[in-house]
Amino acid sequence: MPESDKVIELAKRRGIFWPSYEIYGGVAGLYDIGPVGARIKNKIINTWRKIFVEENSEFVVEIETPMITPSKVLEASGHVENFTDPIVECTKCHKIYRADHLVEEMLKINVERLKPSELTSLISEKGLKCPSCGGDLGEVRSFNLLFATNIGPYSGTTGYLRPETAQGMFTSFKRVYEATRQRLPLGIAQVGRVARNEISPRQGLVRMREFTIMEVEFFIDPDDRNVPWLDRYYNEEFRVLFGDAKVKGLKPATMKVKEMIEEGLLVNPWMGFWMASASRFVQALGISKDSFYFEEKLPEERAHYSSQTFDQIVEIMGEKVEISGHAYRGNYDLSRHSKFSNEDLTVFKKFDQPRTVVKKTVIVNRDRFKDNPELQKEVMMLVSGKSPEQVEELLNKQVQVAGRPLSEFVRIMNREEKEHGIKFYPHVVEPSFGVERCLYLSVLSAYREKKDRVVLALPKDLAPYQVAVFPLLERDELIKKAREIYNLLSGKYEVLFDDAGSIGKRYARVDEIGVPYAVTVDPQTLSDDSVTIRDRDSWSQIRIKTSDLESVMDKLFSGQDFSMLTGEAKR
Ligand code: AMP
Repeated sequence: MPESDKVIELAKRRGIFWPSYEIYGGVAGLYDIGPVGARIKNKIINTWRKIFVEENSEFVVEIETPMITPSKVLEASGHVENFTDPIVECTKCHKIYRADHLVEEMLKINVERLKPSELTSLISEKGLKCPSCGGDLGEVRSFNLLFATNIGPYSGTTGYLRPETAQGMFTSFKRVYEATRQRLPLGIAQVGRVARNEISPRQGLVRMREFTIMEVEFFIDPDDRNVPWLDRYYNEEFRVLFGDAKVKGLKPATMKVKEMIEEGLLVNPWMGFWMASASRFVQALGISKDSFYFEEKLPEERAHYSSQTFDQIVEIMGEKVEISGHAYRGNYDLSRHSKFSNEDLTVFKKFDQPRTVVKKTVIVNRDRFKDNPELQKEVMMLVSGKSPEQVEELLNKQVQVAGRPLSEFVRIMNREEKEHGIKFYPHVVEPSFGVERCLYLSVLSAYREKKDRVVLALPKDLAPYQVAVFPLLERDELIKKAREIYNLLSGKYEVLFDDAGSIGKRYARVDEIGVPYAVTVDPQTLSDDSVTIRDRDSWSQIRIKTSDLESVMDKLFSGQDFSMLTGEAKR
């Protein structure tokens, strides 16, 4: 059985995740997160929050916006038009496939950049047939992945479930900007549910129809390189596969953020800042640096709003999964929402010194139209709605009105004005993670088999519980003592108490859900007030006094290795 199947098996058995609505046969792409999974998932979100929000609390804030989105918002963002995947239907059995994936699987080539019509030609050229019944495949069409709904009881008020949290951050940008320091950079973060009507989700938590996303929309002044926090990760290094190298078939290469910036490989240095944050975060999930890299998307592979995108790809146990996306969205979203809402979403940048600028104005010489309203109408039709520069161009071309030169009626005047600043649309850098993919990949990378047993070697900070407390036997005095220890530790640590079944089974359970330590109360505890602590990863045990338990736990959770303690205990 491949490791990924074993992980899915373990996830069901131990309450990490399982298909939703199982009693009705389940629905592809929908998953429940179980009691153990929910604890791990919350810790993943908190780890992300620490790295992406808290450590940047001077310039990143978190908000929450609705899932239900009026259609106008997603028309402005381009999703109604562009959030599509290609599909193809078998003309015989009517099974529907995601066309690009089908062609990629059958021909073993990358077709990410092909249009529906090109995919149709390729399918007929290569004679591809329905893998299920061998029938002919029809025309490739675009399928929109938005889930549509109706807002309220009236028809015609179409809404959609959001496919990303980003739009809520763009539409509330002005409010957040005004409620905070009114300065750039400004990061707006959000963790929330999103829905995408994926065509054939079959890959567990990797491709879901509803999932949780963690995003930052980071608003910047693209010309401002002199920002104090920007250099924090200059010396951070990770593997990247840039577009040029990808086209040549090269492998990802390790580089420092500083080098990427100096060599002009990033459209903006903040891309490096957030990729470095993502590198730290993914390592905190227990995924080693050599198991992931950032891959630059080629222009044809990028979303409609992006001028540079990197996918962070994790490779573990033969699986290759995009864990995060890093897009430079430029001013696309704010300018589109300004246009569609008629709200000014620019910010004002004050100059250090006011600048003198020459402004052109169109002067219409009304005296010349006396008693000739027809002529006036003709002249006005020609110039109204035009900028001074456009009118000047007409004058330069010596345009005539009713046989007379336009310059008889209109002239351009230059006026000096003082400007104190300019209005502009901030640009946006967006790092975006799917939480369930993080959950799946951290469980997959923690999965170990040891002497026919399963151990989930999760990083301590992600473990669903930090310590388990067991009475060795189901005897009242041992249970009572174990409860005392549970009470002692639970003020400070997340403790799992379990007194059911054999001790072997209880150890197996905590190993399988990744609890790092188990404290066991046995008959000796009653005579000398000592307990054993068992280490999940080495299975070794030490016996210590109950009075030392808290300080030993503190040492273990502040980074001390268990083997050091066994050494100490022996001495
Ligand atoms: P995207 O907006 O497509 O770049 O997605 C952002 C992140 O969400 C990805 O990097 C994934 O971690 C996650 N993601 C995207 N689509 C899905 C899906 N169908 N199921 C689960 N996670 C997803």
